[in-house]
Amino acid sequence: MRRNANREERGGRLLSALAAAVLLTLLLGIIHRLYHCEYTDTDTPNDCFAVSAATGETALPKMVCLTFDDGPSKNTVPILEILDREQVPATFFVCAQDANERYLPLVADIAAAGHQIALHSATHQYSKIYASTDAFWQDIKALRQALEPYVDIGGIDWLRFPGGSTNTVSHRYGGRGIMKTLKAQAEQKGYHWIDWNVCAEDATASHPDAAQILRNIRRDAEGHDLCVVLLHDTKATGQTVKALPDIIQWFREQGYTFCTVAQMQAVKDEVSQPKEQPAE
Ligand SMILES: [Zn+2]
Repeated sequence: MRRNANREERGGRLLSALAAAVLLTLLLGIIHRLYHCEYTDTDTPNDCFAVSAATGETALPKMVCLTFDDGPSKNTVPILEILDREQVPATFFVCAQDANERYLPLVADIAAAGHQIALHSATHQYSKIYASTDAFWQDIKALRQALEPYVDIGGIDWLRFPGGSTNTVSHRYGGRGIMKTLKAQAEQKGYHWIDWNVCAEDATASHPDAAQILRNIRRDAEGHDLCVVLLHDTKATGQTVKALPDIIQWFREQGYTFCTVAQMQAVKDEVSQPKEQPAE
């Protein structure tokens, strides 16, 4: 009897150890997926090929940042109307190229409505901005000067690299290490930068319609508690305007809260702060 009991005990321990090992493997797999989100690298000068560091942090509420790049343009106006109607904050990574010139005063309206203005590029020409790190910061300086008449420029400290921080198109012009250097310099200069983990693919050559834009977003958002959605408000992205009410409704139905990228960062910082121990 004693020997049988011992054998059962050993068997039980073995089973527990096995179960623990399986659980650990599963857990490690999940952590690996969360922290090593895959991304596609490409030479195509398109903004849809980087991935944000913002991936599922389970301690955080479900949050989504709608981000609009390459504006302002005529399409910024209806986008602001929809955001206002839906009471949804968003972030605008703006440009100051020729196409934007007429619409630049809109950045004052964007800011007045409570949205976040962030920097993208003055010219958005890869061959120019990624020719050297100096060229990049010259372009950012030109953008800041163009925005200055309309917004409190001192309060703008977020940027998004054209093509994303992992783009390889920059290597052609500024060498393989240019993005790494630019990211370090951005931090030294006190900038926050952010990519995205959900791509609407609304500015691609295939010109997707509103339904396809929503499908692209749903596909990428799947499984992410924190979503940073890349959209565009250029003159060519009328379908984005059309899709926007459905995009907002879909994220609402999934239980997401809308916020700007700065607001999302503030919540993340709060969660990651170590709790203060009460003094004894
Ligand atoms: Zn862009």
